[in-house]
Amino acid sequence: MEVKLDTGQLFLHFQPVVNLESGLLGVEALVRLRHPQRGVLLPASFRKALDHPPMSRRIGCSVLDMALSQTALWRRQGCHLRMAINISACHLLDPQFRADLHQALDRHPDVPPESLILEITETAPMLDFEMARKILLTCEKLGMQISLDDFGTGNASLTWLQKLPAHILKIDQSFVRGILGDSRDHAIVSGIVTSARLLGLETVAEGVDTGDQIQRLRAIGCHSMQGYAIARPMPPDDIPAWVDFFEEQWLAEMNPLFSSRIAAS
Ligand code: C2E
Ligand code: MG
Ligand code: MG
Repeated sequence: MEVKLDTGQLFLHFQPVVNLESGLLGVEALVRLRHPQRGVLLPASFRKALDHPPMSRRIGCSVLDMALSQTALWRRQGCHLRMAINISACHLLDPQFRADLHQALDRHPDVPPESLILEITETAPMLDFEMARKILLTCEKLGMQISLDDFGTGNASLTWLQKLPAHILKIDQSFVRGILGDSRDHAIVSGIVTSARLLGLETVAEGVDTGDQIQRLRAIGCHSMQGYAIARPMPPDDIPAWVDFFEEQWLAEMNPLFSSRIAAS
């Protein structure tokens, strides 16, 4: 059921993204809605608003502002994290998107654009490829990275990877879920990881929710990942302690190379 939405009810949770060879990569901002009667709602409950004007722009601006405020706050606390922000196709293609982005950056001068990643799905390039490319090129010029979310699920053509200024491919959770039991999913993930490496792109596996999936992804050569097996999305106040925990304990146990580097420093 869709809900009536007031942007004042929105807030963000953050899910860590890690590389098992090199450490923490950053966090992804995931929007939630505090509904007066129904409690905390996930984006699936207000999907329509995320994808249709004028709400998509209002939500997008509010998310940009909250994500940049949080990045600035963590930086002041000495926690420098790359922040990935989901941008709806509708907001990306809005004539005001670039102005909205500039305004958010101007309001948060302590946040370097290089610390931001914009996550887009293939919907925007499918709706208007040239416009999406132009807008993403502007974002790239500002220093931001572009991540193609849910990669592999739709009709994205491989030539897009040449033409769009993409830096990161996020392998959709449906393939990650299948890598242990379905040889085709395994082949697709391997193929994406190999093609990405040859094209000089990073790959991040999303929805990694078991240790066995982690091991299989590492065997395939995909070391960057995000999912419940690593950390669930969490409120901002929990992130600095999680980062300390990850850097000091978890990664040291998972990766002998990393632990010897920690021991040597
Ligand atoms: P997404 O960008 O692909 O985000 C990943 C989703 O997978 C998140 O769901 C996350 O909580 C969930 N997830 C992460 N790890 C696991 C796992 O191990 N197992 C399972 N089963 N799920 C996992 P969430 O937060 O409900 O978000 C759903 C989608 O809503 C997002 O998919 C994104 O497309 C959209 N979304 C979220 N935040 C925003 C936002 O601020 N703006 C826009 N436009 N869309 C957003
Ligand atoms: Mg995403
Ligand atoms: Mg995704």
